[in-house]
Amino acid sequence: MDAEVLIVGAGPTGLMLANQLARRGVRAQIVDRHPGPARETRALGVQARTLEIYSHLGIVERALDLGKRGTGANIWAQGQWMARVPLGEAGHSVTPYPYILILGQDDNELIMGERLRELGMAVQWNSELTGLEQNPDHVVATLKKPDGATCKISAGWVAGCDGARSSVRELCGITFPGAPYEHVFYVADTEVTGKMVADEVNVYLWRRGFHLFFPMRGKDHWRVVGILPEELRDRSDATFESVVPSLRGEAGSELSFKKCTWFSTYRIHHRSASRFRDRRCFVLGDAAHIHSPVGAQGMNTGLQDAYNLGWKLALVVQGRADATLLDSYEAERIPVARRLLNTTDRAFRLIVADNPLAGLLRTQILARVGAFAMRRKSIQRIAFRTISQTGIHYRESTLSQSLGDAGPDAPQAGDRFPWLMLKFERDGLVEDSFRKLDDTRFNLLAIGQAAPSAETLGLGDLLRTHAIPADVGNDAELARVHISGPAFYLLRPDGHVGLCGTRLDAGAVTKYVAERLRVRGPQAKAH
Ligand SMILES: Cc1cc2nc3c(=O)[nH]c(=O)nc-3n(C[C@H](O)[C@H](O)[C@H](O)COP(=O)(O)OP(=O)(O)OC[C@H]3O[C@@H](n4cnc5c(N)ncnc54)[C@H](O)[C@@H]3O)c2cc1C
Repeated sequence: MDAEVLIVGAGPTGLMLANQLARRGVRAQIVDRHPGPARETRALGVQARTLEIYSHLGIVERALDLGKRGTGANIWAQGQWMARVPLGEAGHSVTPYPYILILGQDDNELIMGERLRELGMAVQWNSELTGLEQNPDHVVATLKKPDGATCKISAGWVAGCDGARSSVRELCGITFPGAPYEHVFYVADTEVTGKMVADEVNVYLWRRGFHLFFPMRGKDHWRVVGILPEELRDRSDATFESVVPSLRGEAGSELSFKKCTWFSTYRIHHRSASRFRDRRCFVLGDAAHIHSPVGAQGMNTGLQDAYNLGWKLALVVQGRADATLLDSYEAERIPVARRLLNTTDRAFRLIVADNPLAGLLRTQILARVGAFAMRRKSIQRIAFRTISQTGIHYRESTLSQSLGDAGPDAPQAGDRFPWLMLKFERDGLVEDSFRKLDDTRFNLLAIGQAAPSAETLGLGDLLRTHAIPADVGNDAELARVHISGPAFYLLRPDGHVGLCGTRLDAGAVTKYVAERLRVRGPQAKAH
């Protein structure tokens, strides 16, 4: 076998998967048909959940250095400032990263590519996947070089991270139902001055559409995103200059553009693959789902597809888990993609609808209702959890099991376990749980009771156990997330709760691991 896993596509999704496999010691190859990394910024918003994953990967500081923190969004209707949506405050107790980080896709790819090289893996550019042959225990992939020469490589598994026109998806015969929107989007990276609120996202709603200004690194640098005015929609020669009059008309004549370094138009589709897996091949990221850019979710969702699949694939190729564990990738990620498609579709249709009634609704009602709603703390919290992707859960997954009721508001099986500041040792320092818990292993938190050793549970080095000591600070922090009294949480490597309950019974944990996760300890592996 040439590789345990072949990753097709070195966009953000492929690079994230490659990193997750490399840091777990999996022999993977990552190929891309392009000659080198993409130079366009494309996606711009990095959500809190992605930053949490970056922190485990050791690249969050670099991302924060390069990016710009967007702590609020300002809504304008017909040139009038209407409201500020605070993104930061609502997320303070939820995540160490309570903002949207404005960091271009090219920089995200750069950082993940650097980390991958440090882990001893590099992208093989100029290698296009053109054929796939699936066998019971391996896949043979055909790769084409720019001079037309081809070579075949065999791999245990193939991950199609090859974007919206995915060859992996097509070669596997996975359909991609959905449709294009009639509107054409444009993006422009500009140097401009105007009335925009500095360092924050500015959303302009107007009768005939909308546009957004995202603050970028550097003085007066803004990414402008909008829909092409109707009269330009069918023209292939639209330029930035041709959209400036409509921008000035809506955002104010004082807008002064000094430079435009990138302008592109694109038609958006909303589609979701009918399956995310065909035998030994998977699809992830844009290969599996595409939708409108409303809410800056696209790139982030792909990164989390990779984070979900990475630990499972690693355990399976290393013989530590049964291949049925991989069924949960599709079962967990398809509902996330479908929900996202529905919400972004509804929001998008409301924002871009052309008819006069919709224009009125957008500028008079939506802006006012939005402004009013966003003053309510509870709505701010729901909005933050949704946009930041920290609220994504796998409660319906077969990997999620609850033994005993810890209370309706306590974390449930399938939830991302909350971020806490805890003392892990009675006389120790207060530590950040996200830094403390190793995401290349399972973590068992025993609260208000003793923790059995990893050896007792038969998981050896796959598990870290943590007995959280009773302490005034710990109790208050746990109460904040509605955990009171004895409880236990077995966290999967991706930080989601697998098994939870009140009284910790080592036998029940062992049974869950063997029967639900189908994960084996080191002794079992040797047999
Ligand atoms: C103009 C534009 C603006 C956007 N703005 C936003 C935004 O603001 N926010 C947001 O969240 N998203 C945005 N998106 C979407 C975002 O860019 C995608 O969601 C993201 O790129 C998906 O990453 P990916 O790795 O899944 O796929 P891609 O980035 O498409 O990467 C796929 C890779 O696979 C390679 N490949 C394809 N076929 C093959 C093959 N047969 N063999 C080998 N390699 C292959 C390609 O060369 C490419 O490098 C935007 C997209 C565009 C085009």
